Amino acid sequence: MSDTVPVGKVYLVGAGPGDPGLITQRGIECLAQADLVLYDGLVNPLLLRHSHASARRTCRVSGPEGRSLPQAEINRQLVEAGLAGLTVVRLKGGDPFVFGRGTEEAAALAAAGIPFEVVPGVTAATAAGVYTGISLTHRDHASAVAFVTGHEDPTKPESSLDYDALAKFPGTLVFYMGLHRLPSIAERLIACGKSADTPSAVVSRATTPLQRTVEAPLAMLPQAAQEARLHAPSLVIVGDCVRVRSVAAWFEDRPLFGKRIAITRPEGQADEAIWRAVALGAQPLAVPTIEIAPAEDLAAIDSKLQELASYDWLVFTSVNGVRQLLDRLWATGGDARRLANCKIAAIGPATADSLKPYGLRCDLIPTEYRAESLAEALLPLVGDQRVLWARANRGRDVLPTALRQAGAVCDELVVYTNHDVPAWPDDVASAFDAGTVDWLALSSPSIARNVARLLSAQARSHLESPLRIAAISPVTAAAAAEVGLPVHAVATEFTWEGLFQAMRD
Ligand code: SAH
Repeated sequence: MSDTVPVGKVYLVGAGPGDPGLITQRGIECLAQADLVLYDGLVNPLLLRHSHASARRTCRVSGPEGRSLPQAEINRQLVEAGLAGLTVVRLKGGDPFVFGRGTEEAAALAAAGIPFEVVPGVTAATAAGVYTGISLTHRDHASAVAFVTGHEDPTKPESSLDYDALAKFPGTLVFYMGLHRLPSIAERLIACGKSADTPSAVVSRATTPLQRTVEAPLAMLPQAAQEARLHAPSLVIVGDCVRVRSVAAWFEDRPLFGKRIAITRPEGQADEAIWRAVALGAQPLAVPTIEIAPAEDLAAIDSKLQELASYDWLVFTSVNGVRQLLDRLWATGGDARRLANCKIAAIGPATADSLKPYGLRCDLIPTEYRAESLAEALLPLVGDQRVLWARANRGRDVLPTALRQAGAVCDELVVYTNHDVPAWPDDVASAFDAGTVDWLALSSPSIARNVARLLSAQARSHLESPLRIAAISPVTAAAAAEVGLPVHAVATEFTWEGLFQAMRD
């Protein structure tokens, strides 16, 4: 068998501390190549968007510690996948070699003769420092920093940590895995001579939209942390550098910090909105509500593609319309020259931008990104000319109606279909039911209608507080109102950027 099946390769990749932007370029390359991703409990699942592989989590997110797969089982799965010839990414929180048992995985792979590579990551301590404005080293206050495991019980004699030495350490101490042992860590450090007044902090869920920091003198920190009900994962930082927290909370000041925003784009088209939400400090929740599929009647498209020269205008009202029509043109042996006689109109900037990769420019974009405005802008130009509208199977008829009334020929060609998803994934439904979603962003009337169908009675009980609804345009807002959804914000620019702006306002 080993003659026929090539041995695969395993990449032990540091995923960074939580903010999905803090993975390395190399890490993203590895994810893009992977057949299988095994990721641990600290890894932000948004990182899986860089991969087409099947993915398994080796640890449950919630619940007490110890529900993760045993290390030996993880090693066994890595070896097995490697022997099966797969390219595997083992995605680990922070840096794989900082309290991450990465060396054990590497050793198991080496022993089995499976090639591997290790990709470093941004470790929690340095990231937490930067994202809270605490500089772990400082010219005046700390010329050294120690990363310490807080996992061991400092009151037990078998602890391998030397608390005398730690108490005397001339610099900053950062304890990983120390939240649940914080009282005994503080007590032991003070007993060994560390000043009870040493400035200290706990940083919880650093670099994520749930980041929280609690500061107190060392002796008071356990109580302060308990009162603040901080959650794992958390780091404990002890040292004068905490006092000189310089850069104010630049991260926590992001405009949508901590807000959980449901992004209703179809799967496969949600990335841009999701990464934008992350950049604004929000927690995006992918909520695919409609599905996009190729048109059923390809023959109809193919025959229109042959007649393109007979049209004066080609009109697109969505990115999907552009891609489906132009990809089909290419797939059937044609190219952009077929459009030489047509002018092109697009409903808005996103649709116009999607023409660029095909080497096409748009001749017309209305000032307002809606069908009424598009019709108004086209009317004086088209006269009695021939217009072809590349459309979805459903949607409003504003455009053809207006053009025909004015004497133009407007042919409609269904180039893709959009369908309602029958149900949301379980994690999405339970997030709505639990009232943990702050904003639901609606980007089309059909999405609004299906959202109304899919929101449970329990989820609706959270409407107004905390759940609020934002609509991408007045047309979408009207569709939402028609199906009984209260709209709290309407974008003035009809794009996702505009939607986020409306939430901020
Ligand atoms: N390899 C990881 C550490 C794994 S040990 C790294 O390099 O960061 C797990 C511990 O890391 C947690 O108990 C916690 O102390 C710390 N940690 C990981 N991510 C964190 C985060 N986002 N915020 C605070 N602490 C974090």
